[in-house]
Amino acid sequence: MIRGCFPTLCRICGENCGLLVTGHSGGVRLEGNPDHPISRGYICFKAKRYNTVHSSPDRLTRPLLRTKAGWKPLSHDEAMDVLASRLLRHRSMDGAESVVFYTGEALKHQENKALFRHLAFSFGTPNFMSVSSVCHAALDMGYQLAGIRLEEPDLNTVRAVVIWGANPFATHPLLFRRLRNASAKGTPIIGIDPLITPSTRLSDLHLQIRPGTDGFLALAFLSRAIESGIEMPQGNTFLSMGDLLRHRSIDTWLSKTGVESRRFDEACDLLFRNLPVWICPGVGLELNPCGVETIRAIAWLQRVLNSNRPRRRLEARLRALPGSGIYSEMPHPIGKRETPHFVAFKGEGQALFLKNAVLNSDPYPVKAMVIAGGNPMRTFPDTGSQKRMLEGLSFLAVFDLFMTQTAQLAHLILPAADFLETMELHDYGPSGHSLLGLVRPVVTRRTGLTTETFVFELAKRLGLQDRFPWNSDEEAIEERLEGSGVRLEELLASSAAVVRYESTAPSVLDRSFPNRIVPSWGPSRMDLPIDSWQDNSFWLSSGNRSIRFQHSQFRNIPEFATRSAESVLLIHPKAADKLGIRSGNRVCMHTAIGSLVVKARRSKCLREDSLCMIHGEAEVNVNAITRMDHPDPLSGYPWMRALPVRLDLIRET
Ligand code: SF4
Repeated sequence: MIRGCFPTLCRICGENCGLLVTGHSGGVRLEGNPDHPISRGYICFKAKRYNTVHSSPDRLTRPLLRTKAGWKPLSHDEAMDVLASRLLRHRSMDGAESVVFYTGEALKHQENKALFRHLAFSFGTPNFMSVSSVCHAALDMGYQLAGIRLEEPDLNTVRAVVIWGANPFATHPLLFRRLRNASAKGTPIIGIDPLITPSTRLSDLHLQIRPGTDGFLALAFLSRAIESGIEMPQGNTFLSMGDLLRHRSIDTWLSKTGVESRRFDEACDLLFRNLPVWICPGVGLELNPCGVETIRAIAWLQRVLNSNRPRRRLEARLRALPGSGIYSEMPHPIGKRETPHFVAFKGEGQALFLKNAVLNSDPYPVKAMVIAGGNPMRTFPDTGSQKRMLEGLSFLAVFDLFMTQTAQLAHLILPAADFLETMELHDYGPSGHSLLGLVRPVVTRRTGLTTETFVFELAKRLGLQDRFPWNSDEEAIEERLEGSGVRLEELLASSAAVVRYESTAPSVLDRSFPNRIVPSWGPSRMDLPIDSWQDNSFWLSSGNRSIRFQHSQFRNIPEFATRSAESVLLIHPKAADKLGIRSGNRVCMHTAIGSLVVKARRSKCLREDSLCMIHGEAEVNVNAITRMDHPDPLSGYPWMRALPVRLDLIRET
């Protein structure tokens, strides 16, 4: 048990609120830290109950090796020896590129990605991959194609806000509070979403759009802006879109969206009278075969609405990892052939294309994988296909907090420390604040290895100690801080666990990116590839988030699970009446790749032509029927939103 009260940072979601942590007989108590300059004492549902996760009896506590007789417990040293020897063996037999390092969200450390990327490239494999394969990168790509960066402005400087395909209530609670305050001060808000959510309830006008048609609505707004004489920004990619705009009418675009003309007119009036406007986009726009082009159109609209006056990009000057950038020549990463733009943009492979490499050695064999804090068995599309891929590996090691579905397929499991047991840096620069924060170990017990220890210990065994020359997390942090103007002692002494920095790294917005991408893409790439539309067909939205969970995390925590009613399929009462469906009835959903039986619940929160189900549930994981067969050509992102499905009532005998 810890004695005293310690400031640290929450690592559950990207808000990174300040926390005060105290010990008690049953574990730890987390409270909001009033000294933290951004969160100012705020703490959400998940963090308040985090002790349920931290002290869960289900936490992995010992490394486990799969043997014919079952799981064999190992010491940490033994486990690291096994891991290193298997990776070295695959490198010598199959080439370094046959080894993949993947990082997910569960360990949630900002440095996590940088460390694993450096480890992978130093080892000689180009196959570093991350959760960016399914989350957020398409948004960034769409915005950079429009020549701007995705960032939140100071809400005091905008006169209206559009919440588009986002539900900050569930995903960014602090942003939701800022939006609520702005609304209370009179800033008008438009919500654009097929669903009624707590975030759209905040809006003055809700456009309940047909799923997957957001790009066409953006084109309708752009057309109206041109008609209204609003100045258009210059740029090659916009000119091609502008040409297309002139050849179609607003009604053509609007008819695809299901938005009534009257409400569209109201929205235009509200937007164009209140420039500058900030569009707050969400990852709901990403997950379909035309996600990036849709987002590009929205980003162009953002330029027209003229509120994206980028602040100077903030980033602490952390010292580079030793030898970073000095890597031996490597083959192309997996995914380069299918989505070269994603690979060039992110500087990493696209994990959704691993299956062919693992099962068919195409374009080359992939034999071994290390997954740190990721659970593709729950969060990736087409679960059956993911399972075949993971089972096809000769060696799978998982480094995580719990025995996830992915860990159950592993040959070696290593328990990870959580954020109360870890020391690491967090830079608030990318979210607009020149603050460096320190996540610090606030409990004496360590259940597993920290990411740093895992990487440093593995690097030593792989002969890469010159790239990771530290013996502890503290040593590494002290060296990384050199040049930032911030010292570790200052961070440790801060009551908020943050220190302001003056010196920032140069901007990294790649202005040549739009011109390197096929500039003539546009509306022709915004239609979903639907072959036919049958009776009982609906648009399924499956990537939605619940405030209780963070991706697939915490779903094994009984308190969270019992308070959740999310493992149901939502259907509008009028659509349900046509099929004779009552709440609690079992229904069967069919897509091109399979069927899923689930309980239905009637809800007026969605359109009559839509269905909604939260992803990542264990018993009825909707990803069993989400699709990889029409990846977005720019990002490779799967089809999890606006997915056509057919629905049947199961008649119980
Ligand atoms: S919003 Fe909640 S989960 Fe996210 S950082 Fe803040 S306290 Fe943690």
